[in-house]
Amino acid sequence: MSTAQSQLAIHGGPKAVTIHDESLFHWPIITQEDEEAALDVLRRGAMSGTDVTVQFEEEFARWQGTRYALAFNNGTAALQAAMFGCGIGVGDEIICPSITYWASALPCFSLGASVLFADIDPDTLCLDPDDIEHRIGPRTKAIVVVHYLGHPADMDRILAVAERHNLKVIEDVSHAQGGLYKGRKLGTFGHVAAMSLMAGKSFAIGEGGMLVTDDRTIYERALAFGHYERYDERVQDGWLRAYRHLPLGGYKYRMHQVSSAVGRVQLKYYDQRIAEIRRAMNYFWDLLEGVPGLQAHRVREEEGSNMAGWYAPHGLYKAEELGGLSVTRFAEAVRAEGSICSPGVNRPLHLHPLLTECDVYGHDRPTRLAFAERDLVRLQGSLPVSEQVGRRTFSIPWFKHYRPALIEQHAAAFRKVAEHAAELLADDPGDGPDVGGWHFYRA
Ligand SMILES: *Cc1c(COP(=O)(O)O)cnc(C)c1O
Repeated sequence: MSTAQSQLAIHGGPKAVTIHDESLFHWPIITQEDEEAALDVLRRGAMSGTDVTVQFEEEFARWQGTRYALAFNNGTAALQAAMFGCGIGVGDEIICPSITYWASALPCFSLGASVLFADIDPDTLCLDPDDIEHRIGPRTKAIVVVHYLGHPADMDRILAVAERHNLKVIEDVSHAQGGLYKGRKLGTFGHVAAMSLMAGKSFAIGEGGMLVTDDRTIYERALAFGHYERYDERVQDGWLRAYRHLPLGGYKYRMHQVSSAVGRVQLKYYDQRIAEIRRAMNYFWDLLEGVPGLQAHRVREEEGSNMAGWYAPHGLYKAEELGGLSVTRFAEAVRAEGSICSPGVNRPLHLHPLLTECDVYGHDRPTRLAFAERDLVRLQGSLPVSEQVGRRTFSIPWFKHYRPALIEQHAAAFRKVAEHAAELLADDPGDGPDVGGWHFYRA
């Protein structure tokens, strides 16, 4: 029996978290400098211009370490343009993890292409390099790599597969802006990278996205796709030059300049702010080292890799070390202690009806098969790690500041529930079939 002092809050004991400080989680950090930059755009009536955006792109490219940066109205558009930039078109296939936000994959449909999902590694939660090669066919053009929840994907091995099969690599850096893999910045490994900068991400400027590349042709194709006002004499590619002044894609993807103005200010402080997040998050996990059932989802920084800004941080759950307690019940007990925890991550895309059955464009068959020569998505059972990942992951608090006394209380909540797991087994309802969500962002 537990003493009154250590009794679980869900059973009427005292809560582990007693200090509440909203500023610990508030993001992004907005100062007078951001406000003035935004107001300047509004007062000049420059919201739809490109002067601030072009400055933001130049500064972003310098920070990113790429020759080109091209700003978009959101990350989804940047990803679609990256796919078009790589020449993905009718009948082509991309390979993408199933555990990611939908925009890593779905824009390929509007290009007449299809997606083939590969499994993830159970520890990194990123694309499993060993599950790619056997899925490659004659029409496979690109691999979309997601540095999921800030964790760098295994780029050495993924790039080796891509090189062997002459595939393009598109990095989706929406969860990991500014992160490192073996000392080098994420977003500089692939032929092109695209990322969201929307308000819920660690690099948060409001609706916005960025495409970065060293490849002039990819850059020009991405520009021609949805930036008609900049698709002009400056474009060098011979084929593209014939169609200047109208967008090839039929889309308009310009960034709102309040976003670019805020982005310029955020960029100045971003590295310093995410370094503090890393210190806070690593401290949280250090406090939980050795606690049964709970494993950190992080990299060893000694190898020159890091977790960027720890976007939507999660832990790996080992029910077998906690008597089989469901992660759903575990998370409920942690919340009762006053901390923040929910079960699961993104639900697997390959099982969603939009991928399994929906005929979006009227092809008389599911859109995933409309453009492809082979049945790309084997359904239930095809991706065992992805299909089970909801039961073995849980969210943790996303600390924006290094405040040890508060972080210690939250870590104590997780430790307390793990150490008292046996007391929760009796009324454990188990995990439902659909642990996790289709997306994370809540306004
Ligand atoms: C947020 C996100 C996107 C899409 O970005 P938006 O700016 O919301 O359009 C793409 N990929 C991943 C992995 C994301 O999390």
